[in-house]
Amino acid sequence: MGQIHIVTADITRLEVDVIVNAANTTLLGGGGVDGAIHRAAGGELLDYCRSLGGCQVGEAKLTPGYNLPAKWVIHTVGPIWQGGTLGEPKLLRECYENSLALASEHKLQQIAFPGISTGVYGYPKREAAEIALSVMQAWRERFQRIIACCFSEADAQLYQNACAQCIRE
Ligand code: ADP
Repeated sequence: MGQIHIVTADITRLEVDVIVNAANTTLLGGGGVDGAIHRAAGGELLDYCRSLGGCQVGEAKLTPGYNLPAKWVIHTVGPIWQGGTLGEPKLLRECYENSLALASEHKLQQIAFPGISTGVYGYPKREAAEIALSVMQAWRERFQRIIACCFSEADAQLYQNACAQCIRE
């Protein structure tokens, strides 16, 4: 109960209550994990996203998961890394906080996160993992399971190095 799990996987394959998407402000799909989630969920997801009117950096919005094994998707928009002095850490923290608050409001018990902003948006991975883990720690008692879903073993190792007590799967 209430543990943080480090998993190396394609997030679109996870059977959990909700997966988090590292979206962009349009919510109309993109590359990376966003593209993978839209492909796996099917066109109904894009139709639904069109009705949402976009999403600000740091905010989070909930949609159904459609054809995904996950029941729901939370779309959040990470900051683009511009050197770290333009509020990027605070905005990244808000992505995790607002996503966990939204999942908690909807009583979703298992949630999986990708490394928000750490792909095309260029956020340094170790610093991003530390922010992710500190917010996850603060919220973990409200969830059955919080998953840090890593796309490579190297990324999983970064999380493990920052969190000795996290469960590596
Ligand atoms: P951003 O624009 O927020 O940087 P990206 O999708 O480019 O988003 O990358 C975010 C993170 O998601 C990166 O660490 C990338 O390796 C990872 N990623 C990409 N595809 C997947 C996937 N299918 N499952 C899990 N993680 C993924």
